[in-house]
Amino acid sequence: MPELPEVEITARRLSTALGGAEIESASAPGMVAMKTFDPPLEALAGRTVTGVRRIGKMPVVELSGDLALLVHLMSAGRLQVFDRRASARDRASRVLIRLADGRELRLREFGSRQRAWAKLLPSDRVSEDEMVATLGPEAWPAPRLEDFAALIDQPRQLHPLLRDQRAIAGIGRSWVDEILWEARLSPFKRGSELLEAEVEGLHRALGVLGRALEHYERVIGETVPDKLPMPLQVHRREGEPCPRCGTTIAAVHFKEHQANYCPEEQTGGRLLKDRRLSRLLK
Ligand SMILES: [Zn+2]
Repeated sequence: MPELPEVEITARRLSTALGGAEIESASAPGMVAMKTFDPPLEALAGRTVTGVRRIGKMPVVELSGDLALLVHLMSAGRLQVFDRRASARDRASRVLIRLADGRELRLREFGSRQRAWAKLLPSDRVSEDEMVATLGPEAWPAPRLEDFAALIDQPRQLHPLLRDQRAIAGIGRSWVDEILWEARLSPFKRGSELLEAEVEGLHRALGVLGRALEHYERVIGETVPDKLPMPLQVHRREGEPCPRCGTTIAAVHFKEHQANYCPEEQTGGRLLKDRRLSRLLK
């Protein structure tokens, strides 16, 4: 799933590629993708794309005439520009924005589930949208240490807490593993249990997001590929040696995802139980 660094680089590249492009027409082949109907998608005809930005994990396509398309990619969506128009049989198409120069901006979604969505809103309403208004502060650039310390001071485990967009925006299943590994903290430690130095270390560890973005700026050209070259050290590296200490990276498997960590540096040598079998573990 695209998280803050992936959506940020996507927004930057799309903004460069699309800035000033005139829209010919727009449609939504994914019947359930558009979550708003007023203004209608047809209102995009004749407008220009003025830029693409990011809020949390959501790209926002800014349009002339003070409209904005707020997009949620969910787990398998991609927002990409193509030189040619999509075939009517492209079942991955959810929203198509045809440009006057022949190109096309597409919200596509891989897999059979239709979960990605878009909302066409007046620009000044974006911040009031429920998906935006409920977001915590952006994880990058990192919030001030005092603010971060306050939001992390909850009796909830760090792994779900850092992924809770209402607590802090932009972190998902991949980067949470990297941030916790960087901070040498257990995924299941509770936010309110952290010592002051641990809070500071976790705050510093948010820097991995900025470094990921710098990496993407170096390696990604004009077009963002389907599969991004994510600079991950521990996520999905179960069984491989920890890049810092050589201990075998372990995993906790959940129904739809896994958490990876270094037992030596993050859990005092303990292996955490598999969450598919056991729901409670301190
Ligand atoms: Zn290690």
